[in-house]
Amino acid sequence: MRDGSQAKLEIFKVKPRIVTIANSTLNFSGTCQNVARKRRKVYSVHKSHYCPRCSRGFTLKKNMTRHLRHECGMAPKYQCPYCDKLSKFTQNIYAHIRKYHPDQPLYVRRLY
Ligand SMILES: [Zn+2]
Ligand SMILES: [Zn+2]
Repeated sequence: MRDGSQAKLEIFKVKPRIVTIANSTLNFSGTCQNVARKRRKVYSVHKSHYCPRCSRGFTLKKNMTRHLRHECGMAPKYQCPYCDKLSKFTQNIYAHIRKYHPDQPLYVRRLY
């Protein structure tokens, strides 16, 4: 009896795998495999760019450069006009106003 149920389980596990492989090869052929490879690459990349000032790690060099130019060691430039919320990016203030002051007009106070 035990052997019988195990065999059933194995078939159940293997079947969906076969189906997905068959579908992807039928629909996308080579491209599907390329996408999977690209994704794997992205996930395997670790933070390899470190800010020379605060040694914060970034996966992409452009993110590190942006951080160095606009964030690192900088005081927040923008403030919510309705409270004390400060941010280095206007987008953050806009998002904050939408969330916490939804009835107020959207604008940002620039500190300097
Ligand atoms: Zn930094
Ligand atoms: Zn606010």
